Amino acid sequence: MTTILDGKQTAATIRAEVREEVAALQAEHGRAPGLAVILVGEDPASQVYVRNKERACAEAGVVSMPHKLAADTDQPTLEQLIRDLNADPAVDGILLQLPLPKGLDSQKLLDMIDPDKDVDGFHPVSVGRLALGLPGFRSCTPAGVMELLSRYDIDPAGKKAVIVGRSNIVGKPLALLLMQGWKGGNATVEVCHTRTPDLKKECLDADIVIAAVGVPGLVTGEMIRPGAVVVDVGINRTDEGLRGDVDFASAREKASAITPVPGGVGPMTIAMLLKNTIQAFKLHQGID
Ligand code: NAD
Repeated sequence: MTTILDGKQTAATIRAEVREEVAALQAEHGRAPGLAVILVGEDPASQVYVRNKERACAEAGVVSMPHKLAADTDQPTLEQLIRDLNADPAVDGILLQLPLPKGLDSQKLLDMIDPDKDVDGFHPVSVGRLALGLPGFRSCTPAGVMELLSRYDIDPAGKKAVIVGRSNIVGKPLALLLMQGWKGGNATVEVCHTRTPDLKKECLDADIVIAAVGVPGLVTGEMIRPGAVVVDVGINRTDEGLRGDVDFASAREKASAITPVPGGVGPMTIAMLLKNTIQAFKLHQGID
């Protein structure tokens, strides 16, 4: 029997936990955690993501502070906005929705976010803390993968994990999370990418296969060792609707546990953003 790792249900449980914690924090500290979300332009996917984040904040009692700016907003205006948000004590977390319209320097803007408000975990300080195994903000999608595994009692310790994809927002941080010597880590990690000569061979050797590629159905059942755990981070819009990076039907035949798309890792990402916003609030209030 293959276990379906239900991210939708797990995320709903986490959001309910967050709602309770936010209510308790608000009662004790007289304010709720605040999340500023910056959206520049009209990228349809970004608009959907931002709307979902706003809805999740409202449901959890987190104060959402949207900053929706025209596509022709210039770099100095955005830099000033980030300075203002850094200085605003009601803002615990700052999220810059990517991608930005062409001509804007997203890395410079990300670097300007106060690391103590970096709820997306993309600031070099957050990435450095992760690399060093120090406490800090973890980027939401990799953190969501780790949380989903943990909630299903899948312990990567001693297992071989193969990650397909080496992006800064998913593959690389996930490799670090899985390899560190902390609870939920301790895996032997291999990262595959476009220059990996034999992806099938690498995947077949894995106890845990995580696909974060952006190529629909790249990882098929014949690349999965019987009994392996398969996590699909991919979200690809195709003519047949949303598809993951894993060919679900064939991979499910082999896997002991597998995430669906949609309803797997996707919903976990927003749940982890809410958790990070609480973490930022506690940091600013001096709570351990
Ligand atoms: P990216 O394009 O930045 O990186 C893709 C990586 O895959 C690259 O490192 C590349 O080397 C590797 N790759 C590409 N083709 C390959 C191939 N044929 N064989 C081996 N490696 C290959 O993508 P990303 O931002 O990491 O996103 C990956 C996927 O995850 C996308 O579908 C994206 O939509 C999805 N995603 C989902 C969430 C979520 O919330 N669930 C969040 C972020 C990204």
